[in-house]
Amino acid sequence: MTTLQNYIHGEWRDSVCADQLAVENPATLEVLAQVPMGAATATDVDVAVAASVEAQQEWRDTPVIERVQPLYKLKQLLEEHREDIAKTITQECGKTLGEARGEMQRAIENVEMACGTPALMQSEFSENIARGIDEFMIRQPIGVGCCIAPFNFPGMITFWFLPYAIACGNGFIVKPSEKVPLTMMKVFALLDQIGLPKGLVNMVHGGKESVDALLAHPDIKSVSFVGSSQVARYIYAKASEHGKRVQAQGGAKNPIIILPDADLEMAAKIVGDSVYGCAGQRCLAASNIVTVGDEKGEVRDAIVSCAEAKVTGYGLDEGADMGPVISAESKSRVEGLIDQGVKEGAKPVIDGRGVSVSGYEKGHFIAPTVLEDVPIDGELVKTEIFGPVMSLIHMKTIDEAIDFINRGNYGNMACLFTSSGAHARAFRYRADAGDIGINIGVAAPMAQFPFSGWKESFFGDLHGQGRHAIEFFTQTKVVVERWPKEWSRKF
Ligand code: NAD
Repeated sequence: MTTLQNYIHGEWRDSVCADQLAVENPATLEVLAQVPMGAATATDVDVAVAASVEAQQEWRDTPVIERVQPLYKLKQLLEEHREDIAKTITQECGKTLGEARGEMQRAIENVEMACGTPALMQSEFSENIARGIDEFMIRQPIGVGCCIAPFNFPGMITFWFLPYAIACGNGFIVKPSEKVPLTMMKVFALLDQIGLPKGLVNMVHGGKESVDALLAHPDIKSVSFVGSSQVARYIYAKASEHGKRVQAQGGAKNPIIILPDADLEMAAKIVGDSVYGCAGQRCLAASNIVTVGDEKGEVRDAIVSCAEAKVTGYGLDEGADMGPVISAESKSRVEGLIDQGVKEGAKPVIDGRGVSVSGYEKGHFIAPTVLEDVPIDGELVKTEIFGPVMSLIHMKTIDEAIDFINRGNYGNMACLFTSSGAHARAFRYRADAGDIGINIGVAAPMAQFPFSGWKESFFGDLHGQGRHAIEFFTQTKVVVERWPKEWSRKF
C-alpha cells in the first residue's frame, strides 16, 4: 500500500510522521493509499515553509509577466490530464465523473484568471497631490501563504488561491484534506513540470497537527481556509492571533424560494440538481426548499418526480446521477438528522435511508430524500446536512420566506425562482447571503468574481478568486514623493 509523500523543495519526500490514516474509496471501500497523520507532520510543515521562504526571495524579484508564464503551461497540462485527475476525484471523493470534470473546469478557469495578474496588480497614481508632490500605491507580495482544503472539492478549491498567490509573487503551501489527498498528488506532479523555482510551492499532508503548525508559523503570512464553520471560526481566531491575514470560508444551509409565477418544470429540475448534485456535499447545495402561495401541490409533485428519477450509484459507472457520501461517519450523521427530523414532525416523501447499491453494497450511499411539512425551527432546517436531503417548507408570502432566510445562521447562497423582475430585484436586495441565484440553483461565482459567503459561512474580509484574491495576496504600499526642480542639474 502506497504511503503518500509530501512535495517539498521541488521533490517528493517521505513524511517524518510514522502515523497514518487509510484513504478509502467511499463507494467500494477499497483502501487507495495511506496518508501521514499525526503530531510529527508539524516538522514537515517547518521544512516546507523554510523551502518556500527561500524560494520566494528570488521569485518576488521576478517580473510579474514572467511569473505568469508557468501558469500558461499549467493550464495546458491540466487540460491534458483533466480526465485522469477527474477519475481520481471520483475514486476518492465519490462524486460522478461528470461532476469531477466540471470541478476541474472551474480549477482551470482560475488559472486563466490568474494569468491576468500583470494587469490586475496594476495600481493607482495621483500626480501633483500638492505642488510638486506625487502619490502612488504599489502592490507587493505578502509572503508565504497556505491553503487548508476540505474534502468535497479535492481539485478545485486549492485553485481559488494558489495561482493568484504565486502570480502575485508569493510562496505557497497546500494542506489537502486527509480524506482526499490523491487529487492534489496529481496536481503537484503537474506543478513540478511548469518551471517554478524549487521550494516555491509545497504540499504537506496531515490533519489538525499540520494545520496548527501552519497557523502558528511565524513565516506564514496568509491563511486561506475552506471547510466547516466550526473549524473556519477556529482558523480565523488562531491565525489572526498569530498576526496573519486570514480568509476562512465555512459551511452553509442554502434556501431556494419558488414563487407560483416561476417556470415550475424548470425550477423542479434545477432544484433537484442543486440538492442532489455531489450527493448534497456542496457548500452551494440547496437544502431548504420554500414553496410560496396558496397551493404547494404542482411544484411539490414535480420536485418529487425529479428526485425519484435520480440514480444512485458508483460515480465511475455509466448512468449514475449521484454517488455516495464521503464516509460511514457522514452517512450515519445524515441518517441521524433525518431520524431526528421525522421525530420532530417532518414527513418523508422519499426516504433514502438504508439504500443498497448493487455491486457496492458496503458503500456509503444514501438515496435522494425528500421530507415535507418540516418544522421550521427543527434541526433539519437549521443544521448543515451535507447529504442528499431536501426539506420542503411552505409559506404564504415572499416576505415571510425572505424573513425565514435572513433568520438563518449561514449566508452562503440564497436563490429565487420567479418570472417577475420586481420580485427578483427585491429578493437580491434583501436576502442576507453572499451568492444570489435568480432562476439558478447553484449560484457559483465564476473565477473573475469573489466567492462571497456571509454570516457563519465566512470569516474574514477578502474572499477567494478574482480581484479579491489579488488583494488578499498583496500588501499595499503608498509612496508620497517630492523631487524639487532645484536639485537637478541643467542639461
Ligand atoms: P472540515 O472543516 O472538517 O475540514 C477542512 C480542513 O480542515 C481539512 O483540511 C482538515 O484536515 C482541517 N481540520 C479539520 N478539523 C480541524 C481542526 N480541529 N483544527 C484544524 N484543522 C482542522 O471540513 P470538511 O468536512 O473537509 O468539508 C466540508 C465542509 O466544508 C462543509 O461544511 C462545507 O460547507 C464546507 N465548504 C465550504 C465551502 C465554501 O466555499 N464556503 C466550500 C466547500 C466546502
